[in-house]
Amino acid sequence: MGASVISNTTKWKEFLTRYYKNQIGQLAVSEAKNKALVIEFPHINRFDVRLAEELMASPDAVLAHAEEALSYVDLPVKKEIAARVRVVRVPQKTQIRDLRSADVNRLIAVEGTVRKITDVRPRIIEAAFECARCKNVTIIPQEGAGKFIEPTYCSCNEEKKGVFRLLYKESRFEDYQRIKIQESPDELKGGEQPQTLDINVSDDLAGLVTPGEHITVNGVLRSAQKVNRDGKTAYFDIYMDGNAIELEEQEYDEVEITPEDEEEILRLAKDPHVYDKIVGSIAPSIYGYEEVKEAIAHQLFSGVVKTLPDGTRIRGDIHVLLVGDPGIAKSQILRYVVKLAPRGVYASGKSASSAGLTAAAVKDEFDGQWTLEAGALVLADKGVAAIDEMDKMKNEDRSSLHEGMESQTISVAKAGILATLKCRCAILGAANPKLGRFDEFGSVSEQINMPPSLISRFDLIFILVDRPEERKDANIAGHILKSHYAGELNEHRKNITTSHVSEDSVKKAMMVIQPEIEPKMLRKYVAYAKRKVFPIMSQEARDRIIGFYLNMRKQSEGENASIAITARQLEGLVRISEASARMRLSDRVEPEDVDRTIRIVTTSLRQVGIDKETGKLDIDVLTVGVAKSQRERIKSLKHIIEELAREHDGAVPVEAVIDRAAEAGMTKDKVEKELKKLKEIGEIYEPKAGHVNLS
Ligand code: ADP
Ligand code: MG
Repeated sequence: MGASVISNTTKWKEFLTRYYKNQIGQLAVSEAKNKALVIEFPHINRFDVRLAEELMASPDAVLAHAEEALSYVDLPVKKEIAARVRVVRVPQKTQIRDLRSADVNRLIAVEGTVRKITDVRPRIIEAAFECARCKNVTIIPQEGAGKFIEPTYCSCNEEKKGVFRLLYKESRFEDYQRIKIQESPDELKGGEQPQTLDINVSDDLAGLVTPGEHITVNGVLRSAQKVNRDGKTAYFDIYMDGNAIELEEQEYDEVEITPEDEEEILRLAKDPHVYDKIVGSIAPSIYGYEEVKEAIAHQLFSGVVKTLPDGTRIRGDIHVLLVGDPGIAKSQILRYVVKLAPRGVYASGKSASSAGLTAAAVKDEFDGQWTLEAGALVLADKGVAAIDEMDKMKNEDRSSLHEGMESQTISVAKAGILATLKCRCAILGAANPKLGRFDEFGSVSEQINMPPSLISRFDLIFILVDRPEERKDANIAGHILKSHYAGELNEHRKNITTSHVSEDSVKKAMMVIQPEIEPKMLRKYVAYAKRKVFPIMSQEARDRIIGFYLNMRKQSEGENASIAITARQLEGLVRISEASARMRLSDRVEPEDVDRTIRIVTTSLRQVGIDKETGKLDIDVLTVGVAKSQRERIKSLKHIIEELAREHDGAVPVEAVIDRAAEAGMTKDKVEKELKKLKEIGEIYEPKAGHVNLS
């Protein structure tokens, strides 16, 4: 902390009087408990560049001058003002991973996502001690860093150690909270672990942020000596004493769009092939899956979030689920999307993170305090959360995911922590079938370890089966080998100085896996669309959606029909149509957007909502897990058992059920399967081996 050359209370009085007199006047009459004056750094800079520089270099001394000077400003009311001075808009944000020893004790700005917060608790900043012998009171300032400093001797007896009592009333406390921020995933290059920084905040800043929020913190970087079992070491940890917190309001702020970018974006949007170009730029190294890539493209752009007058929020995010055999590039697709989407976060259902997929109250490893920690969904707020191996997620995650997907909030109530966190993200899930391979003749919910109620919250579900098919296989193989070949050429040229591989041939080979729009540009395009485009549905488009919906519902009229589609799918149709309009930066949802949406939705419904026995579309297969034909069968089976129970005195031989069911046209296989299921759900029981009865 160098001696101040420019800064002193007179200088600050001059500055504050010139720029902040009104605000200080308001502070003087304010009744607020934790007062703070927010100062914009550029004002200091304009006032005196040297003062601004000194503030950056020795923030502790300079801020002390500023806080003291508050009381010297001439005001109509005469009043002592005790307030914190908070400095915002500090220039040049430093990345957490770039913090170095030269930054210690300087005022710096860092940016990141709130990962963890502790409860707000009192911290003693001035401790008053009373000597047991002479009753004299000594005030000892507590310097932070967690250690409590106590006096050893009192002036009444310099030879003998004293006995002291802490006086609570005479001591000074502040509200204190520790938060942990982590670098934005956007800043990371593939595969890097995000780094974190602990920040102490107090008074008006305590309790200000919630996990998942993107913030900029201005503060003083500190270092604390690490200790191990043998005592102090030569190594230091860093943390920050926060001076001011700025919330990032704009969701896509992190993606910077220059005027040149905007020109390029507008040019792209006018291209009649922009739609195909976007779809073609999603995971080009993966062959096929056009319908999945199309769905993901819509997911990136998302529908419009709406807030209704009664405060209801309707989500705009489109949730997509990929179910399928292992080794068919599901994980690969997820990883690619995370790279493309602003605020993309990848997590596995199996992941060992203590916060899980959503959020959790966890005991802090440092001081055993309960902290609230954000999981993947919260960290991906306003972005895309790619959740791999979704079928393997923990039970707690499964239950909070229900809430997270629909209301887009996560509630945590544990260990005295009550919080609601926002997770306004689109979910791209991947799940493997329970038995390793997908059985095309079974229903989805039977085959993946996820409750139908959760599955039905996805707007689009795709089933990817891996059936040998010569032409397709040859194409995939060709594509994979071509991309490896391109990679080989590239590596050869890069690593061997005398390589015979020319730049041209590398470029040519790379063509197959080259996206039409570079990932960086596509991210900007998506960010621009979400920031600037809020399409409104044209009358024709609306009519078309209603027409489609009514038509599907009509198929399910009458006693014997299955229900084809529900209002939940209707909302999905609207969202996808809006996303489709956004893809060409259009202000209007046109009929063509609806047609495209209907095509995508029916492709998905066909795969998952078909009653395998009747071949009819039946959304219950998906949402309830039982098709109508199966429900009918179960109903008649129970009826049969009920009848036979009278003849057989409450213990019906399974053979008798099978015989009677055969008369109704049911095969032995089916009967045995349904009986097993009925037993599992406790509708029937086995009074003795080989016999059944209704429970
Ligand atoms: P999953 O998560 O579905 O089990 P992975 O994403 O781990 O599968 O994929 C296994 C490997 O197979 C990956 O390296 C992937 O690139 C490759 N692969 C599978 N299908 C394709 C395809 N259609 N195009 C290109 N690569 C593929
Ligand atoms: Mg996988």
